[in-house]
Amino acid sequence: MVNNTMARPTGKKRRKASGRHRVSNLLVNAGLVLLLVVLVLALGGALARIFGLWGGGGLGAPGSVHTHQDLKVYLLGKPVDFSQPKYQLRSDYIHMEAGNGDMIHTHATGATLGLFFESMGITFNDQCFILEIGERYCNDGQNTLKMLVNGTQSARFHQHETRQGDRILVSYGPETPDQLDSQLATVTNFAAGPGQ
Ligand SMILES: [Zn+2]
Repeated sequence: MVNNTMARPTGKKRRKASGRHRVSNLLVNAGLVLLLVVLVLALGGALARIFGLWGGGGLGAPGSVHTHQDLKVYLLGKPVDFSQPKYQLRSDYIHMEAGNGDMIHTHATGATLGLFFESMGITFNDQCFILEIGERYCNDGQNTLKMLVNGTQSARFHQHETRQGDRILVSYGPETPDQLDSQLATVTNFAAGPGQ
């Protein structure tokens, strides 16, 4: 601890401890206690997250929920085909399955779009969409990464926690609003129907 020497003055200094010293010792001790409390809380929070015990904000256990979302991803106008085997059933928490590349199955509370893409080796954030093969699609002067949830632009990107019936469009490129609307129209509507 950095302040230990201040907290425990030795020799003459200790015997001659003045009122000012005692006050500063108290402050140091209070600081150490506060630090300990913060550490315990942080550790507890981390454990709760790992074991999915935290109802709000954390990731639940697989099977804690079952909802569906429709997803379309366009990179420079070209749709990504998530029906490919390499993109199927990559996580117990959130995945696509049965050769369907249009609908996400969310199986854990608190699962995010980031977790979904991450399980496929894809990097997704507010700046970049990077395919598992290393192809990078990052914001530049001409192209931007956009995400729309149920037709509304969202700034949540990887942090978006999927909800039942979400229709999600991720698009990277120089699209005009009209072109974005055309892409939006291709987002399927499986999640709303009876599914499993
Ligand atoms: Zn399902």
